[in-house]
Amino acid sequence: MVQNGILVLFDIDGTLVRGARCHYQAFVQAVDKFYQMREDISGINYAGKTDPQILREVLTMGGVEEKAIQRDFQACLQYMIDYYQKHVHQENIQVLGGVNELLSQLQSKEVLLGLTTGNLEPIAHAKLGRVGLDDYFPFGGFGSDSEERRGLVKKALERAHDLHHYHGDRIFVVGDTPRDVDAAKPFQIHTLAVATGRYSSQELDQTGADYVLEDLKDLDRILEIIMPD
Ligand SMILES: [Mg+2]
Repeated sequence: MVQNGILVLFDIDGTLVRGARCHYQAFVQAVDKFYQMREDISGINYAGKTDPQILREVLTMGGVEEKAIQRDFQACLQYMIDYYQKHVHQENIQVLGGVNELLSQLQSKEVLLGLTTGNLEPIAHAKLGRVGLDDYFPFGGFGSDSEERRGLVKKALERAHDLHHYHGDRIFVVGDTPRDVDAAKPFQIHTLAVATGRYSSQELDQTGADYVLEDLKDLDRILEIIMPD
């Protein structure tokens, strides 16, 4: 692919799509199967956390001992993936406003696109595939790469270089939580925070994000930010 030196890394939940009931169910089923935990975990703030990070928090809060957590941790994550892939046809997610147009425009302008998401990689692809967005994203950094969000941003950048020969210096992360912004900070990446998740634009303003938008609907404005020349 021809590139114009710009790389944009997108978060998934709350940024590209909304609602992932099946993903939540995959957690519930997996912790029940491996740890016999049936507590209500819907009250936890998952926003911007990685799947393994959420799993560990849920289990720790449920009083599962560290050793027991470790023993079945990978099998539990794998079960989540299997469950998700099996039930993704029931996933009731919506593509957020402006997303289809924005991705299509960026692709046509030869911007390299990738993901930075806490989703386990197969779940990310299945989720985006469900709404026809997966083909935009040939690579990314995922929850399966790192439990910490910074680690998966690092991985996405490595893959951009190694797999897609990206050597530009104009890089953006687009996300909906303070964690998305924070994770990008060590890497001198431009950050664009969007208030389509659980955080308001006022809250996102306080993260020090370079740009804060209500949503991704104003295509002209976003293109002006990403490719000003
Ligand atoms: Mg998100």
